[in-house]
Amino acid sequence: MEKKLIGVDLGGTTAKIAILTTNGKIEEKWSVETDSSDEGSHIVRNIGDSINQKLTDLQLDNNTFYGIGMGTPGTINYETGTVKGAYNLNWAKEQNVATDLKSITGLDVHLDNDANIAAVGERWQGAGEGSANVFFVTLGTGVGGGIFAEGKILHGVKGAAGEIGHITVDTSKEAYDCTCGKKGCLETIASATGIVRVAKDLAKSFEPNSKLKDAIQQGTEEITSKLIFDLAAEKDELAKKVVDHICFYLGLACSHIGNMLNPEKIIIGGGVSAAGDALLKPIQNYFEGMVFPAVRESTSISIATLGNDAGVLGAAWLALPSE
Ligand SMILES: [Zn+2]
Repeated sequence: MEKKLIGVDLGGTTAKIAILTTNGKIEEKWSVETDSSDEGSHIVRNIGDSINQKLTDLQLDNNTFYGIGMGTPGTINYETGTVKGAYNLNWAKEQNVATDLKSITGLDVHLDNDANIAAVGERWQGAGEGSANVFFVTLGTGVGGGIFAEGKILHGVKGAAGEIGHITVDTSKEAYDCTCGKKGCLETIASATGIVRVAKDLAKSFEPNSKLKDAIQQGTEEITSKLIFDLAAEKDELAKKVVDHICFYLGLACSHIGNMLNPEKIIIGGGVSAAGDALLKPIQNYFEGMVFPAVRESTSISIATLGNDAGVLGAAWLALPSE
């Protein structure tokens, strides 16, 4: 029987786990709750126990597997397989994630960060179509990114490569403060919360009639990035202006990525990407005006296709034996 892979996508509320073939077909998928109590000390144990239980239930032994690939928040030390600074897991201090999970399951463990595994998943089985050069942008509560270049994940000296969310795009005095301590980061504008902030700001000086403006000023409806895109689709003038505003900054940041790395694809994923073409088309327009010709002809932008499965797929890819 051909050997299989296990992918784990660890997040603040659940860890998604899957058993996959080496071709990226998901055969089993389940999740365990992330118990971040007691400084997150139960998390790895719970994941390991759950994998052991599943393999017992399916009557599969360890020889069936190449190993476990796992994506995690926080800062990873790729030499020691340790993780620290994952505050949503209560992992402030260094955790021996790889050695602990290996000792519980008896399987080899390969780690990478959560934005990078999503990049790898999309590159492997999604919109990246197996290309050797892909950049992945995720637009959710924050803005993250991952670089897959010349067939490898690019980490940088401290694992911080690809942090597109913290590219400074607004250098004006009015630029928003970012959680990272800087001002004017892409994340302050193009994350789900950033989009709402932009809408509230632009509403202040907006004259024409607008449902979005009324909703903001009267507090009748919760303002979300989804509502803004829905109203833009109904031709609401303020909503259209907000979408154009954030797409300009996304196009600008993507143009820097394009001019710098010339990937075959820049893939946009995360919750906000559900807006589809309404997000993609204006970004493409701005992008094309800001990249030089060789990049314009060879780097394209598209929307992610895998949704929530990108993480377990990319994680499992880490466990593939190198060719
Ligand atoms: Zn920042």
